[in-house]
Amino acid sequence: MDSILDGLNSAQRTAVTSPASILQVLAPPGSGKTKTLTARVAYLLSHHDYRPQDVICCTFTIKASREMRERLSKLIGNQLESKLILGTFHSICRRYLVAYGHLIGLKKGFGIADSNDSLAVIKKIIKRLRLGIQANTARFRISSQKAQGIRCEELMVKRSKSSEQEEFVRVYQAYETALSNSNLLDYDDLLLRCADLLQKHPQCVSNVQAVLVDEFQDTNRIQFDLMNLFAARNRRITIVGDPDQSIYGFRSAEIKNLTRMQKLYRDTSVVILENNYRSSGSILSSAEDVIEQDTSRPTKKLHPTHGVGTLPVLRKLSTAAAEAQWLTLEIKRCIALTGNLLKYSDFAVLLRSASLSRQIESEMGKEGIPYRMVGGFRFFDRAEIKILLDYLRAVSHPEDSDTLIRVINVPPRKIGEETVKLLTTGAEEAKMSLWVFVKDVAQGRRSTKKGLSKAAERGLGNFLGLVETSKQKLLECRDDTAPRRLLEFIIRRLSFREFLKTAYPLDEENRWANIEELLAQAGDASNPAASPGGDDHLPGIDGLEQQQGHPGHEALTRFLANIALSTEITSDDSSKEKVTISTIHAAKGLEWPVVFVPAVYDGIIPHSRAEDADEERRLLYVAMTRAQALLYLSFPRRDSKNGDDTAQSSFLPPNIVDNRFRATGPKFHEKAVYGIADILRRPRPAIEEMLKGMSGLPSVEDDRWTADGEEHPGAVPKWDSSRALPPTYECSWAKRRRVD
Ligand code: ATP
Ligand code: MG
Repeated sequence: MDSILDGLNSAQRTAVTSPASILQVLAPPGSGKTKTLTARVAYLLSHHDYRPQDVICCTFTIKASREMRERLSKLIGNQLESKLILGTFHSICRRYLVAYGHLIGLKKGFGIADSNDSLAVIKKIIKRLRLGIQANTARFRISSQKAQGIRCEELMVKRSKSSEQEEFVRVYQAYETALSNSNLLDYDDLLLRCADLLQKHPQCVSNVQAVLVDEFQDTNRIQFDLMNLFAARNRRITIVGDPDQSIYGFRSAEIKNLTRMQKLYRDTSVVILENNYRSSGSILSSAEDVIEQDTSRPTKKLHPTHGVGTLPVLRKLSTAAAEAQWLTLEIKRCIALTGNLLKYSDFAVLLRSASLSRQIESEMGKEGIPYRMVGGFRFFDRAEIKILLDYLRAVSHPEDSDTLIRVINVPPRKIGEETVKLLTTGAEEAKMSLWVFVKDVAQGRRSTKKGLSKAAERGLGNFLGLVETSKQKLLECRDDTAPRRLLEFIIRRLSFREFLKTAYPLDEENRWANIEELLAQAGDASNPAASPGGDDHLPGIDGLEQQQGHPGHEALTRFLANIALSTEITSDDSSKEKVTISTIHAAKGLEWPVVFVPAVYDGIIPHSRAEDADEERRLLYVAMTRAQALLYLSFPRRDSKNGDDTAQSSFLPPNIVDNRFRATGPKFHEKAVYGIADILRRPRPAIEEMLKGMSGLPSVEDDRWTADGEEHPGAVPKWDSSRALPPTYECSWAKRRRVD
């Protein structure tokens, strides 16, 4: 096991070993805040006799919690690590609600409505009540009310001032009723209801010795309250954060939680870290040039611990398609130029919004570059995956009518829209859930207003039979293998592969591969490190009974909850050699050797619809500070949507210019490659070996786009990415230029 203080500088050690009970560690990106927080967890456990199950540690993303678990298992061993209550606020709150939700009247086995589910519910309500409010606006407002801890009932007692507000309150109220009838909680409910639970039953967390929070600058009001509730008994809190990286204001995060905390706890100690261990000097100074445009913030210096390195690159391309092509080839070129010092997993493409990914994905597909998608792009939203997950949901909590309606006729069972309507109105009139009503109809206990066709009756019987036998199957599985076994059963019973062949004849293989991926993940649900919420286990507390369910059913609801809470495509593929394509928001706290930030033009960064320009600037700052050795910023000259000319982002300081990663001569090449190896702390590749046999070095002209973003006719360099060395130089345009 590694020693806890090894490899920490003195400021970091001060923070790790601080006797303060309330501690804030404030520091810029890459200064080791997360590393320090992790070491403090280990330090508290080993110096204070705390049991790991009495320590709560909140991270911002699931990937971050997984990384922290990995680091901790090296420091304290995975026996202890696996017992920690470590995860995102949402996953931790879910665990408490699973165990103690009954104390506040929550029904057992609740499911989680993800943002698509919430939107669908709201759309239906607006249609039913014939209201004018936009569904997206309503969802956003409901979420922000909940993030501030404001419930529907509180709004209802206040007499509303405007008809618009009145409309909103009606939607809010109907939404709450719909979720409750379906036994669903949305993301915000997880936090709100948990806060409710802990206020009413503080003994649920009476064992908690210490609470630690990463990325504190992006907590919202309710998360702030939760942190205090978790720590109510022993008042031991450590937070780490950086106001310059606050990028979730649009989702009600409040930077002022930092000062709020200092006011609430007058004895708060603050430790500042200053050294940056992540990025090259030149990347840092470019990032600083961006953030310093915000003159309202206190000036801070980032002290690089690495050399200057290679200058960030700014490229202008003619179109978004050309930008995607350039970016993909540049990834291959980097790998070739560095003699396989870099692998695909060392690259990340960070986007302002998920919608920008289409062309990049398609180019990577063409070039055979493997990639994974994070944040906003959801594997689980793919049609074939969603059908199977909906079946699991139908088995897990059939009270959720929307889910039933989605799969009642998939694969087709002759249950048409007309029949569904008869059933839903029948259920509404009988004031019962769709599931109970459908069962009654199928078993002849009730009938619909208009009789059903024979074919529809058969279809209904078939659907009911499948859900009922699946429930039986689930009861037979008394362990963590339940999700996988159930999925296999449903796939077989539905003849799902045959269905894919008919429904998607051109794409069946890809879709089947996705199903295999889903099965692999379902098999992984037994691994608490891979599942963000851990294994739902909470320490026992005298006099408090934890809700116990059927173990197979619990494994299934946990699997579905993990999916609903995850922003990532898969749970365990981070080790595979793949380029990451992520939103900037989901890249928080992470780092990669090479980072591309495409589409840095006005309208995208800053985004035309964004309200807070400073937050947009911080977003660019966060993106740039993810890079360790090489940073590429780029934008197309024309907007891909409307074809208008673009202007480079006004946040880019004038000293970031078109400085391509030039490897124009052996000396330069050697310096660049050694520089990258040093920053990444990797062995230097044998440069002489690498240079030998290179008949012409790829140079700045080797890429096929001019500084103006236009393509050189006939300049098509081709790398064979399976080889370490670039093949003989093939750029005909550049050759001509050199001869000239
Ligand atoms: P962010 O603000 O982006 O979340 P951070 O402050 O949390 O960044 P970390 O992710 O903890 O920073 O650390 C950044 C990198 O620096 C990691 O690769 C980490 O291992 C390394 N690092 C941190 N402290 C040290 C140190 N004292 N010596 C060597 N490397 C360090
Ligand atoms: Mg961090």
